[in-house]
Parts: sequence; C-alpha cells; structure tokens
Amino acid sequence: MKILMVSPDHPETFWSFKYALKFVSKKATEPPLGLLTIAAMLPGEWEKKLIDMNVTKLRNDDIEWADMVFLSGMSIQRESAREIIERCNKLDTVLVAGGPLFTAEFMEFEGVDHFVLNDAEATLPLFLEDLENECPEHIYTSSEFPSLKNTPVPMWELIDMKNYTTLDIQYSRGCPFQCEFCDISTLFGRKIRTKSKEQVITELDRLYTLGWRGGIFIVDDNFIGNKKKLKRDILPALIKWQERKRYPFAFGTEASIDLSDDDELMILMKTAGFNSVFIGIETTNEDSLTECSKIHNKNRDLVGCVKKMHDFGLLVKGGFIVGFDNDPPTIFNQLSTFIQESGVVTAMVGLLNAPRGSKLYDRLDGEDRLIKDFSGDNTDSSINFIPRMNPEKLVNGYKQIINNIYEPKAYYQRLRQLLVNYNPVKIKSNFQFRNIGAFFKSILFLGILGKERLYFWRLLSWTVFKKPQLFSLALTYAIYGFHFRKIFKLD
Ligand code: SF4
Repeated sequence: MKILMVSPDHPETFWSFKYALKFVSKKATEPPLGLLTIAAMLPGEWEKKLIDMNVTKLRNDDIEWADMVFLSGMSIQRESAREIIERCNKLDTVLVAGGPLFTAEFMEFEGVDHFVLNDAEATLPLFLEDLENECPEHIYTSSEFPSLKNTPVPMWELIDMKNYTTLDIQYSRGCPFQCEFCDISTLFGRKIRTKSKEQVITELDRLYTLGWRGGIFIVDDNFIGNKKKLKRDILPALIKWQERKRYPFAFGTEASIDLSDDDELMILMKTAGFNSVFIGIETTNEDSLTECSKIHNKNRDLVGCVKKMHDFGLLVKGGFIVGFDNDPPTIFNQLSTFIQESGVVTAMVGLLNAPRGSKLYDRLDGEDRLIKDFSGDNTDSSINFIPRMNPEKLVNGYKQIINNIYEPKAYYQRLRQLLVNYNPVKIKSNFQFRNIGAFFKSILFLGILGKERLYFWRLLSWTVFKKPQLFSLALTYAIYGFHFRKIFKLD
C-alpha cells in the first residue's frame, strides 16, 4: 500500500511568520505533527510519503503514485484542502481525511471517501481493520478521549527538517477550563491526558539523533493542565536530559495565566530550557472575562503576572480579543495601554469569533447571531457573528489597537522593555551561516531601507552595551516586527 500524506497550504497569517522566514532562508515554521503521528500509526510495511504544501508543490504524479491520500489540516487551511479534494477526485485516488478541520466540519466536504475523525487513537484502528476486511465505512467518529500511552513517536524522517524553524512535540491533550470561545474541551476533553516521561524522552532522543538542535514547540493547548505530574515527573526528567545533552533544545509552549502563581513550576520550566510561553490574556475588562468564563484570568494584576513570568525567564506571547458583548467603547485604548505596559512584544490581537464546537457557537446560534464559518485567521478583521457593538466601530477600534502597538516606535519601546526584564536560561548556541545571512538582511531591510531604521539601530546599540547575551533575541524580534507590519499592512 502506498500512502501519500498531504498537509494543505497555510495562507499568510500572524503565525505563519512568512515575512520573517525569508531572513533565515526557511520555508515554514513547523511541520504537520498530526500527519507525522498518523504515519507512525499506519502499518510499518506500507510505503509513506509526506508533502507539506508550505514547503513543496503537490504534483499530480504524487497523487497518482498513491493508493490512498491522507489529508489533515486546521480551519485556516480549508480552501487549500478543498482544492486537494477536487484534484484527488479528478485523478480517482481514494481520499481519507481527519484532524481538527474535518472533525468540526466534515459535513461541509464532499468528495472524501473516508473520514477518520476525533482522536486517531480511537478511530484509526477501526478504519484499518475494516480496510483489511475490505469493508471500510464512510465515517469513523468517537466520543471517547483515549489514553496517549500508546501514541507512537512521530515519523520525522518523512520531512526535511532543514525547511523548518521549529519542530513540535505533543505531551498532553485537553484543558480543565471552559472558555466560551474555545473548542478545545469539545475536541480533546477537560480531563488532561498525558504521555509518560519515557515517551517524551524517547521523542527528544529521536529528534536529537536525527540531528535537530534549537527550538521545540510543545503544542499542548494548556501545558500546565496537570501541574503535579509536571513538577514531580516530567520536568525533572527534562532537566536531567537537557543537562546530559548540554541543552540542545529551547522549549516553548502554551499555558494558562495561573502559571504565574506557581514559582516552583516556573523555575522548573526555566531550568528545563523553556524560554517562551503563549498565554491567552484575552482582555482587561472583567465583565468580558466573566462573559466568556475565563475565570482564571479574573481579579488579577495582569501586568504584574506578565512581568513576573518575564522575570522568571519565560517570555510571554499574548493572545487578546475584542468584540465581547460586554466590551465598553474604551476597550481599544485599555488594551493598547496594557500591551505597551506589560511588554508583550508578540501580541496577537484578534476579533472575537465563534468556532464550531465552542459554547459560544451554540449560544450565538440560539440567539440567531451567526453569519458564517470562522475563517480560522484570528487577525483578518472578519467576524462570523453579529456583535453587540456597532460592527464598523468594532473593526475600526480593532485596527486602532494594531496601529498603536505595531507602529515602529511603540513596537521597539515594548521590545526594549522586554529585554530589560527578561532573563532566559542559556541554551547551547546553534550557530549557523544563515544567522549571518539574517543579520545582513536585517541591516539592509530594517537598518537601511526600513522606516524603523532609527529605532532598529538604537535597539541594537543598547543591546550590545547593556545585554549583549540577548543580541540574537533582539534581532529576531526586530525581524518579527517587520513580519507583523507586513501582515497588518502597516508598511
Ligand atoms: S482558551 Fe485556553 S484555557 Fe481556555 S479552554 Fe481553551 S485551551 Fe483552555
């Protein structure tokens, strides 16, 4: 059996880092972890190929080579997925689809032979068994949240690692919280399911043996869902492994803001080599936090929480949302001020949207306020429901925040504030010639041609004299600023 795994094209977005990738001569940020894991769950004797369309073109020859095409993606990849389905149908190749996009919206897709939905640990074995008995069904679905104990090591050998800036691993699925706009507890459940420390270490060993050094993103939606296990089991094992290998990896992940309440956990994470964490801060307006059930963010000094994490060596990337029913007209100024004061350089501000599977989707459906499907791009100024605030005012206010925080002066001010507070763990330097290339490209595009040139040179000089160990971070974030301005069309 020949299997072609296809990851659809990912359009330009905030997180695609498309304009930053050119500086480091990479093609994409991360490979498709889901498909690499599925590949490892298929029979060993089957021949497998993977095409990530963000890196390589999908040719008709590739589709014709395969007995079956396996397709997976997220809602942002919807349009490219439709084109792939059409091409497979034209070439008469059997198509199997799964992953978050199809689990939420399979009824919207025609031309797929078999849907293998929800967690593959529950549904893929059933499909494979029926396939062997020559009676595969159209849809495989499950309400079970299976254990990850037998989830195999992803088949990273199917990709060329050199094309990516970061590789991903997954340690857990699920989140104990129930934010109204989020579909994670529907998709993965509220009970945290985790891999064992042996599984995690085996995955790190595999990446190390394959030659990977540098960034690893742990894709869990809330890495700290089970703090006890992390502190007792996982992080001590990671620390031992990193020390033994002399810190080849720098970790990033996503977590809820209660991480800032737990000094012991932050110290362990820093010692294990974590240097960044994405936090859903969402809003500074308490009534909006109540509205969306983001209870763990309520009654907090949010600026203090962010600064504390920076102090502990965890650089905070923040998610923010406007468009809640309870947002006052002053929310745009409030959020701009908060982002500047807290020093969250990577601030993903989006308009509220309701993905299928979220409680918000059901509420708005009941209130007859839904207009269309969520585009999957949090920052494209689209809204899939009728907001309480005047839509024009809302979109204009949103654009005002983007302008306020990403215009060069404010951006570089924030970046400098971060560098003042931030104390990361030392990761083994992975110097490559493309770093020199990135340096010279940034001199040209930011330091000579860029409208930020004055701020760029000031920042580099300040960093060289005050915090030379953070020079590479300063340069990286200057390049990110270039990407953000392009994405928001501010340049
Ligand atoms: S937004 Fe974050 S904290 Fe809230 S339910 Fe989703 S994953 Fe959990």
